[in-house]
This record gives sequence, C-alpha cells and structure tokens, in this order.
Amino acid sequence: MSESVDVVLIGGGVMSATLGTLLKELQPDWKIVTFERLGDVAQESSNPWNNAGTGHSALCELNYMPDANDPAKAIGINEQFQVSRQLWSSFIDRGILDEASTFINSTPHMTFVRGEKDVAYLKQRYETLKQQPLFRGIEYSEDSRVINQWAPLLMQKRRKGEPFAATRVEAGSDVDFGSVTRQLFAYLEKQGAELRLNHEVKKLRKKSDGTWDLTYRNRVGRTPGRINARFVFVGAGGWAIKLLQSAGIPEIKGYGVFPIGGQFLKTTNPKLVAQHEAKVYSQAAVGAPPMSVPHLDARRVDGEGSLMFGPFATFSPKFLKQGRWIDIVQQVRLSNIGSMLKVGATNLSLVRYLVSELLKSRAEKIESLREFMPTAEGDDWELIQAGQRAQVMKGGKLQFGTEVVSAADGSIAGLLGASPGASTTVSIMLNLLRDCFPDRMAAWEPKLRDLIPTYGTALNADADLAVRTETATAEKLGLRV
Ligand SMILES: Cc1cc2nc3c(=O)[nH]c(=O)nc-3n(C[C@H](O)[C@H](O)[C@H](O)COP(=O)(O)OP(=O)(O)OC[C@H]3O[C@@H](n4cnc5c(N)ncnc54)[C@H](O)[C@@H]3O)c2cc1C
Repeated sequence: MSESVDVVLIGGGVMSATLGTLLKELQPDWKIVTFERLGDVAQESSNPWNNAGTGHSALCELNYMPDANDPAKAIGINEQFQVSRQLWSSFIDRGILDEASTFINSTPHMTFVRGEKDVAYLKQRYETLKQQPLFRGIEYSEDSRVINQWAPLLMQKRRKGEPFAATRVEAGSDVDFGSVTRQLFAYLEKQGAELRLNHEVKKLRKKSDGTWDLTYRNRVGRTPGRINARFVFVGAGGWAIKLLQSAGIPEIKGYGVFPIGGQFLKTTNPKLVAQHEAKVYSQAAVGAPPMSVPHLDARRVDGEGSLMFGPFATFSPKFLKQGRWIDIVQQVRLSNIGSMLKVGATNLSLVRYLVSELLKSRAEKIESLREFMPTAEGDDWELIQAGQRAQVMKGGKLQFGTEVVSAADGSIAGLLGASPGASTTVSIMLNLLRDCFPDRMAAWEPKLRDLIPTYGTALNADADLAVRTETATAEKLGLRV
C-alpha cells in the first residue's frame, strides 16, 4: 500500500517553501511532504545567482508602467511586495526566518534613461507616481551631479551633450530568495514536514476518490516509489507544465512554455562594489521581452557584496537550468501546437532580438555594460549563467507574467511563468489558497490577518495605512523608507 499524506509539494523553490510554511501555520495538523529532484533546495530559479534579487515593487522597472500616465499595474506590483514584506516580518517575529539581513538588504531602486523621448517619459512617470502613497519617496533628476551622488559609476566619464535623467527610491531592496527558501524549508522540517531531496516526481494520476497518486524516483539508487495526496502543489518551476500535463487536468490544455535563458556579468571588485549601492534599471531594447531590461545591480549574498549586470538572453530548449534537451518538444500536444506556432509567427521581433543577443560576443556584452558604466573594464567582470525562464504561451500569445493553473475541484494547482516572480510569491500563494481551499478561507482568515495585517486591503488606496505598514516592515526588515 502506498503512503498517504495531506499535501505534496513538488519542487524545492521559493513558491513551495512559502506555500508549505503558510499551510503549516494555518493547518499544523496536515502532513506535508516536499519532493525535490536535485540534491538541495533553491538550486534553480530561486538560487540567488540564478535571478537578479530585485524586490520587485515597480519602483524602477519601466515594463510595469509602459504608459507614464497609468500607474495601476505598478501600484498592484508594489502592493503585492508589501504583502511579502509583512509576511517576512511576521516570520521573523515567530523565529521562522532569521534576522532580516540574512535575506533582504536595503538597496535604492533607480531608473536611468538617455535620449529626449525616454527622458520625457521618465519625467511624466515620476509626476504620476509621486502622487501615489506607495511611491511617495520617488526623486527625479537630470543633473549629473545629483545622479553622480546617487550612483557614481553611471556618471564617471559619461559623454557630455546627451540628455539623460534618473529617478531614485530609497525604499528599494535586494532579496536573496535562495536564503528565504532554505530558511523556510529548515523551519518546515523542524515542524515535522518531510523534505525528500534527489526525488523526482514522474507521474500524477487522479483516483476516483479525488486524491492524487504520484509516482516518483529516487535519483540516487533509482528506487521508485508512490505516494497519495489530498492536495498537490506543482512548484516545479519550468517543469510545472510537464507535470500538469501528466496530471491530465483540462485546465492545462492550450498552454505551452517558451524557455529564455539569461547570463549576467558579475564583479566582486571591492572598489567597484563600494561605489554602487543601487539597482539601476533602464529601457528595454526593441523586441526585447520585458524581463530582459538591462540593469546594473548591487547584490548582497551570504554577507558579501557584488555587482551584476544583465540579463543577456540565451537560448536552450531546457525548461530548467538542469532540465532536459527534449523539454521543448515533450510539451507539444494537439491542444497547444496551434498556439505555439502562432507565437513563433507573430513574435518575429523577439526572435530577432534573441538571435542578436545570442550572437553577442563577450566584448559586445561589456560594450552594453559601458552604456550604463562608461568606465567598465572587461577584466573586472565574469559571465555567469542565470536561471531559465519558462514564459507562458497561451491563445497564440507569449505572456510575461506568472499564472496559477488549478483544477476546478482545487485538488491540484501549479505555477507557470516567471515575472514578477519571487517578490510576489506570497500574494500568488494567497490567491492559490483562495482558489483551492475556498471552504477553509473563513476559518483561516484570522490567522492570515495575524501574519499579514493588511490582508485583503488595497494598501495604496489608504495613504495612512500605507505609510504605517511600510514604516513598520522597514523597521523589522532593516530597510529605508
Ligand atoms: C534570470 C532571472 C532573473 C530573475 N530575477 C528576479 C528578480 O529580480 N526578482 C524576482 O522577484 N524574481 C526574479 N526572477 C523570478 C524568480 O526567480 C522565480 O519566479 C522564482 O524563483 C520561482 O520559484 P519557483 O519555486 O517557482 O521555481 P524554482 O526556484 O525554479 O524551483 C522549482 C524546483 O522544482 C524542482 N523540480 C522540477 N521538477 C521536479 C520534479 N518532477 N520532481 C521534483 N522536483 C522538481 C526543481 O529542481 C527546482 O528546484 C528571475 C528569474 C530568472 C530566471
């Protein structure tokens, strides 16, 4: 007879870690088992060197606000990040997460643009955002002396005569999502939840009683096994699509994913690190997917500072960094092939962009960095391979957001897509709880309010509450306001 549990989490990334911890808090009696195919947690996208570590809150990323007069999406992203900040603060209070600097650090978020058109756009974006409570600290400047104070590397030896401008918000952050993931799994294990490393889930089959039978294989020794669960979360990153397809739920029909890899230039040269304490985003190149916007980032991982620049897009047919070459072919079904072909035919500018990125030599990548940092020297920088992003294709369109796909009966749910990703994990998981456990939400609500004081409130609409909440979490997380 196979073993039976309440919850199986597939994948040891930040999504499973967050959902598992929330469920442990809400329903301590439930038995939870996590399967991770690799030898440790946080080895794919949630690893600090596989993502950029930006606490996405739309303070600096232009792709969340293409229309400089419309802040709605930017506000939504910021509100979601405030939810993450509140949960992490509560987790510190409860001893679930260690001291904040082990996973989050204050790092101003800046946007830097050049050329008249982009300068006019940035100015208007600033005018719109400064009226919003959650963006009240935003500053704008076209003055090289001011920008030089904010981020000297941007200004040193910059050519005179071209118009440029920058915004800065001091309240920005750099997050080590790998550290969050590791700490949450360590807590889960202490609470009796089991973590099975080197275990790859192979197949999912629904039983007539509505529960799920999962077949897995221990990658060390190749021993197979089977487990039964009342609820399954497919937090398998790029491989979520394969597992949801294996489960055969009708809701996954029509979906496909398109993998886009990335590389960063990284330096640990202390002289450079000491001069750049910001995350500086800019405008995306024509045809570039929104998440390929170049940025020059201060990073802090395991207490050590570094700078990262990128991402440069790469291509591999794998859906995970440590995925398989046949991933891209294995997903093809009658129900999604039409949509995928349409995406190929209608995204020629993306294809052109990807090809141009793939052809870029190391020297050309350093040249791109010099647009941000004119004094950059190739010898200071190494190229590192980032995580794979499996972008959602649906209805003939390539989408750049994150999407939860859940079965109508709420017995299984999985997460597709990549952006804004880890920063908004908590809100994504709260939505998933609502979708999958509608009849338990009333009982869980008091506990959720305890963990997330503004649970269910649109924070930006209440200026006083927004300021109070941001100030309280800033204090707990050691961030500036
Ligand atoms: C280049 C890049 C930059 C990014 N920058 C940012 C950023 O600045 N800010 C931000 O908030 N987000 C960013 N993201 C997005 C963020 O990293 C992801 O949204 C987040 O880490 C996804 O977490 P996850 O748990 O879903 O997936 P992952 O961390 O990828 O974890 C999935 C896990 O599932 C395991 N797995 C897969 N299949 C199986 C199976 N069959 N059985 C058992 N285990 C399995 C994998 O081994 C892996 O450990 C970035 C992503 C990339 C790639």
